[in-house]
Parts: sequence; structure tokens; C-alpha cells
Amino acid sequence: MNKALFLDRDGILNLDKGYVYKWDDLVWMEEIFEIIKMANDRGYKVIILTNQSGIHRGMYTREDVHLLHKQMEEHLTKKGLHIDDWFYCAEMDSIDRKPRPGMLLSAQKKHNIDLEKSFMVGDKATDIFETDGSFKRPMTFLIRGNYDLTHPDIGSGVKVFENHAEVLEELKKRL
Ligand SMILES: [Mg+2]
Repeated sequence: MNKALFLDRDGILNLDKGYVYKWDDLVWMEEIFEIIKMANDRGYKVIILTNQSGIHRGMYTREDVHLLHKQMEEHLTKKGLHIDDWFYCAEMDSIDRKPRPGMLLSAQKKHNIDLEKSFMVGDKATDIFETDGSFKRPMTFLIRGNYDLTHPDIGSGVKVFENHAEVLEELKKRL
């Protein structure tokens, strides 16, 4: 089985300005590059799991998201970095919308991933996946950014960090 580093997109790969969907508006959080590189070097699949309700809200289209992800992937490829897969959820009521685990479980199945040996990095309490007990969610690290981080599991199983550099140091020890 494979191990994975799951990454939220907005606030983790790029600055979360709210509903980013155009390359020209995208500002990279450059510290993510080293995190992706380490995951690549250590044999972890790198998989993006992102809620994109802006589609449901009519602010942009699926095609916009596909194009942006293609452009992001090209940028990373030029840096020698590899993303194994991108999942997004356009809807509000979907099982795929985080914290519901649809995207996580789809990725697990598609890439044969051992969730217990995997990690999730996000910046919202909704990046802490819900589980009905039939699977164990990956170890989850949150980076403090624009959002209030309140969740009963923070401190017991979910760790909060102040920035990407702190998460990088933690992942260096664990990946
Ligand atoms: Mg986010």
C-alpha cells in the first residue's frame, strides 16, 4: 500500500484570498515547495483535496478549476515537483465536501493508500475529516491562517502549527 501526504489547496499551496480561480490571482505560498519535495523524495503520494463551492455558487466553473490546476501543476513540474492527483468538490451537500470524507476515500481507493500511515495538512477545522469509525483519518496538521481553529480533536490527534516552516519540521521527523 502507498502512503500519502494530502494537502488542502487554499491557504496551503496558495494564499487564501477567498475563491481564487484565476492564475493571475494566484499567489503561491512558497514554503509548500519544500514540503512537496520532501514528500516526493520520501515516496509519499501527494494529493490535493480542495472544497470549491465557488462553482456551486456560480462564481466560476469546473473548467476554470481544471485550467488553474493544470497551470499550478505545470509550475510545480518546472520546479521538479510532483502532484499525484487533484480532487475538488463543487457542491455544498456532497459527501465529498470536507469535512465529509468522500474525496479522501476516493483517493484512498484510487491510489491504494494506507490512511493510518498518511498525513493531511490544512488550514481550517473542516480539514479534519469526519469518520464513522470504519476508517482512521490520516494524522492531521493545521496551519493557523485566516480561520478560527476550534474542533474537539485539536490537541488530541490533531496538531496546530503557526506556519508552514513548523509543519515542514514536523513532517521531516514523521515522513
Ligand atoms: Mg484552506
